[in-house]
This record gives sequence, C-alpha cells and structure tokens, in this order.
Amino acid sequence: MPNRRVFLKDVAGAAGLVFVGCGIAEAAQSRPAARAGRRPVLVRGRRITTVDMHAHCAVPRAVEMLKRPAANQGSDDPLMLAGQALAQRLAVMDTQRIDMAVLSINPNWYDVDRDLATEVIRVQNESLAAFCAAHADRFAAFASVALQFPDLAAQQLEHAVKTLGLRGAAIGGSVAGKELADPMFHPFWAKAESLGVVVFIHPQPAATPDLARRLRGNGLLTNVIGNPLETTIALSHLIFEGTLDRFPGLKICAAHGGGYLPSYMNRSDHGCVTFPAQCQAGVPKEHPTAYVKRMFYDSLVFTPEALRHLVAEVGAGRIVMGTDYPYPWVDAPVDHVLATPGLADADREAILGKTAMQLLGIAGT
Ligand SMILES: [Zn+2]
Repeated sequence: MPNRRVFLKDVAGAAGLVFVGCGIAEAAQSRPAARAGRRPVLVRGRRITTVDMHAHCAVPRAVEMLKRPAANQGSDDPLMLAGQALAQRLAVMDTQRIDMAVLSINPNWYDVDRDLATEVIRVQNESLAAFCAAHADRFAAFASVALQFPDLAAQQLEHAVKTLGLRGAAIGGSVAGKELADPMFHPFWAKAESLGVVVFIHPQPAATPDLARRLRGNGLLTNVIGNPLETTIALSHLIFEGTLDRFPGLKICAAHGGGYLPSYMNRSDHGCVTFPAQCQAGVPKEHPTAYVKRMFYDSLVFTPEALRHLVAEVGAGRIVMGTDYPYPWVDAPVDHVLATPGLADADREAILGKTAMQLLGIAGT
C-alpha cells in the first residue's frame, strides 16, 4: 500500500461525515465511475439486495475534538486521512454493485477521559444517524461507544439503537490494553445481548505495544498480520474466558473473516485436552469451535478458495460481505462471492446481503 501522506479535507456529506482512507481519493478516482447507476445483482434471475457490512467513515467534528487523526489501518507513520464526497462514495458503491453500506468508525478514543469520550460519541452517533436517515436506501451504521467506560458504553448503545436508529455497535479488538473478555466489560455485553443487536469487532493494529514493536519494519505488518492476529486474540478470549457462555445471545461479527481463528480453530479444541491443567474446568462449556461457528464474519479473505474454506468451517449462513471501504483491498466484492466454488444460490444470497439484513433488522428492497 502506498504510504501517501494526505490530509483531512472537510468535504463532508449532508451530516458531516467523510469516507476516510489512506490515499483513497486517488484510488477511488482510478476506478471507473458508475454512469448508468447500479447494475443489479441477480441470483437465479431475481434481484437481491447487496450489503457491505465493513465500511468506514469519520466525523470531522469528532476528529477535531480528539485533536488526532482519524484511526487508520495501522501505519506506524501517523497518516492523516483524506475525505471523500458523497457522490464519489455512491459512484464506487454502484461500481462495486453494493446496494447498502453499513458504516463504522474505527475507535481512536479509548484513552480519553469520560467527558470528552461522552461528547465525541454523542457527535459521532448523532452524525451517523442524521446521515443514515437522509440516505436510508444506501446507508446504515453501527454506533460508536466509549468502551473504556463500559457503563457509559451500555447507555450510549441503548440510546443509539432505541433513539437514533443505529444498528448495533462497532468496537475494537481490545480497549486500552484490556481484553474484551475482561469482566469490566460485562455491562456492555449484557446490554448488547438484551438489545439483540450485532457487535462488529474490528481490530486496532498495534493495540499491544510489545507486538507493535515486533511488527515494525517493511510491509505494514501491523496491519497485514497485526489486524488478523488482534481479532484472533479477541475472539479466543471471549471463548476461553467464558464470556460467550455468560452472554449466549450475543451476535458478534468479526472483521477480515475473523482473522486467523476460523482457519485454524481446531487447535483450540485440542488445547485443553492436551494440557488440562492449564484450563479451568467447564470453561468454556463447549468445544471452542462451537463458538466460532456461532459468530459471524465478513468475506474479506481475498480468494475464492479462502472463502470456500471459511464457509466449510463456519457455514455460509455465518458470512456477510465486507469491503473495508475506503481502503482499497478489494475491487469486486460481489464477484468474489459469486466466484466462490460450492455455494448454492441460497448461500450466495445469504452472504451478499440477506444475512446482514437479518442481523441489522433491515427490510429488503
Ligand atoms: Zn476495516
């Protein structure tokens, strides 16, 4: 990925959002513009609604309040991020055959005090809600929450879902050095479970200083390895610490295909068998793979074979489409799903949008 240094420009849409990314303005412009609107996606001759569950944005006012760049995807160099106009954003969605994008904001506020966190989240969630209300046919959004204050995060989530119409929460894979399985976060998990909303877990690269040090150097390893590793650690703790037993109704969706966990999950089943002295009796209650198969994952695994394998491990019904927009990881996310071998039409329809709409409580078009 080119390490361009570009700067935040306030080219916000109707409600003060920018679609952020490193060098994305250039990347997006290099794609063919959608001139004739969306080319519909058909499965068995019937038009389906396609949903991108993994799409980023930032709220410039919140960025200014935090006095730091919007969270990026893991460069050690503190890249500033470019804003992008709504028309350009929609053109790329049309080109990619995405009917609806579910926006999330990568957390970069987990270390700030309660007053500032309260205000940042208020501004972000109100901006997301206003934007989505104005463009309800193309956008939905996950709430941001101040997870370093779990009681506050629970209140923010409830307000965002019940009053603002947001569709769940997007959180990091750890919170200022604390694992998501830490009992301090139980109030948040309890609230998410009782509301029945999905929690989208997106890794924060370099969240662990020791690991970040090892991932320095050429190749942006903080991102390419650090991100899937962070997700793997986060999900594993939620399983092995019993969090998912305590809150069995949780709906968790992990970015980037769940990182490394689904592709090597059977080792987790054998750990406590091989080293029983290292495991608390009865925790977790079931085989770890049972929990992996119960969570949801985006399709950002790059090749049809990788997606075929993810489907084989967790089932087509557990996968939703994700692009990581505006980071230019993928050009043709729909074709990626359609090209995956072994999928039935119902599987394709589920991955491309149906499962996401069910998780989000959105009616199809
Ligand atoms: Zn992302």
